Amino acid sequence: MVISHHLIGNFVVRFSLALAICMATVSPLSAKENELTAAEAKAHYTFEIAKQIIWPNDAAIDQFVVGIVGSDPELEKAFAKRKLTTVRGKSFTFETLPNTTLNSDVYSIIFITEKSRSLNNVIFSNIENTLIITDGKVDKDKQMISLISSFRKIEIKLNRDNLRRHQFEVSINLLGLAGTKEDLTEQLRDGELSLKRLLKEKQQEEENLIKLNQLMTKKNDTLLTARTELDNNRRTLKENNQRLESLSKKIEISTAEVNKNRKDITHQKKLLKEDQVNAAVREKEIDKLEASIEKNLSILDNQVNRIKQQDDIIDSRNQTIGAQRGWLTVTLVVITMFLVMTYFLVKINILRNRANKELESLNSQLYELATTDGMTKLFNRRHFMETSQNEMLRQQRKKTVSVILMIDIDNFKKVNDTYGHAAGDEVIKAVAKVLRDCSRTYDIAGRLGGEEYAMMLVDCDMTAAYEIAERLCKQIESMEIMLDGLKIKITISIGLSMVETDDKTIEQVILRADRALYEAKENGRNRAVVFID
Ligand code: GH3
Ligand code: MG
Ligand code: MG
Repeated sequence: MVISHHLIGNFVVRFSLALAICMATVSPLSAKENELTAAEAKAHYTFEIAKQIIWPNDAAIDQFVVGIVGSDPELEKAFAKRKLTTVRGKSFTFETLPNTTLNSDVYSIIFITEKSRSLNNVIFSNIENTLIITDGKVDKDKQMISLISSFRKIEIKLNRDNLRRHQFEVSINLLGLAGTKEDLTEQLRDGELSLKRLLKEKQQEEENLIKLNQLMTKKNDTLLTARTELDNNRRTLKENNQRLESLSKKIEISTAEVNKNRKDITHQKKLLKEDQVNAAVREKEIDKLEASIEKNLSILDNQVNRIKQQDDIIDSRNQTIGAQRGWLTVTLVVITMFLVMTYFLVKINILRNRANKELESLNSQLYELATTDGMTKLFNRRHFMETSQNEMLRQQRKKTVSVILMIDIDNFKKVNDTYGHAAGDEVIKAVAKVLRDCSRTYDIAGRLGGEEYAMMLVDCDMTAAYEIAERLCKQIESMEIMLDGLKIKITISIGLSMVETDDKTIEQVILRADRALYEAKENGRNRAVVFID
């Protein structure tokens, strides 16, 4: 079968390009579709063409309505199958039209069947936007070109020029399939031209846009500057408003103050009048006062002179006081120095006295150590000799008498041997104590060494001395020395000699007394013997 497409408006479009193509190449049919009847094939390709062609009023079309001219129940049935399917989002439907007048702007496609080929009676009106398709040759060839169908082959005759002339656009896809080579080339050239035009337009637009952008940038800058100025102006305005407000407030306050001051002025004017009256009275008083002031001034002058004189006197006194102050300061410094020195001298004196006392006590200790026998506290040999020598010389000068006693413990070695050396020491101390107790304050007693003692009985004659010696012997004999529960008893022997007026040294006297002591030992001990020449 061969199908031809015809565009008819107030014109007759002839598809000058006849391209015999296979049904399958226009829009490949499935195996089932290949079994379509001739009517079904016509409906199918009408539908396909509707997909591929853009109507001049495409945007305004709500639905694609196909008007079928000529009664063909098979075709109607075939279109009925496609009814309410969509083409580019718009529903697809059909109506059967009368054979006579075709006046409609609602039909997107008018399908003229082979059966109603004779269009002599058909009147077309208001169908500028209508695509006319026929499935067979018509007699009125200026208006219609046959759409040939022969078996299953379709011959689609597209007249691109006609379509374009009437603002129909054919998709490149359909052209590729149903157009001639020249059609395609022209379409491409047209496309190229339109693309170039579009490119040019776009470039122009771009340039315009760049210019616009530059203009906008400039305007924006100007706007920014203006905005900054506006902001500044606003700020200034705000500040001015604030100043104005504060000024208004100040003015209000000032006005209030002015009103108050006016009242005060009125009041003060009254007071002024009163004062003026008073002033007149006072002026007179002032005159009087001025007279008295003049008098007082002369008095004052005198007093000022006197004060000046007194000032001079005070100045000279101040000078004197200044000089006295200098002296006073010097005196104070000297006194302070004197006091400090005195303090240190007193301190030194106290320290010296303390040192002297310590020295004295040390001296006395030293003296005691030098003159005293450590064990018995009697004079030691040297001190006894010196003291008794001096006493002897004194006795000789005074022509008085004195006696030397030499005392020795009897058998003392035996005491040491029997009781020990320490016990011997105690015995020596006990005898010394008896000698000290028996002697008067001015008598001289000393330990000459070992268990030997000597005494000088001052201002004492031989009779009295002998009595003392005997008494000493008896006292020692009767004495019991207790040591560690032991009772020790001892005796002593004493030799006596007078200090003669011609004796030169005390050693001479001691030697004589020693001879007498020897005699006492010889005569049996525990006795006193007087030296006789
Ligand atoms: P005579 O009766 O003849 O005097 O006999 P005597 O044993 O006492 O003999 P002599 O006087 O010669 O002996 C003195 C002894 O005394 C000799 C010595 O051992 C002892 N003696 C000397 N000095 C000390 C002393 O400080 N302490 C003691 N315990 N003994 C002393
Ligand atoms: Mg002896
Ligand atoms: Mg003896």
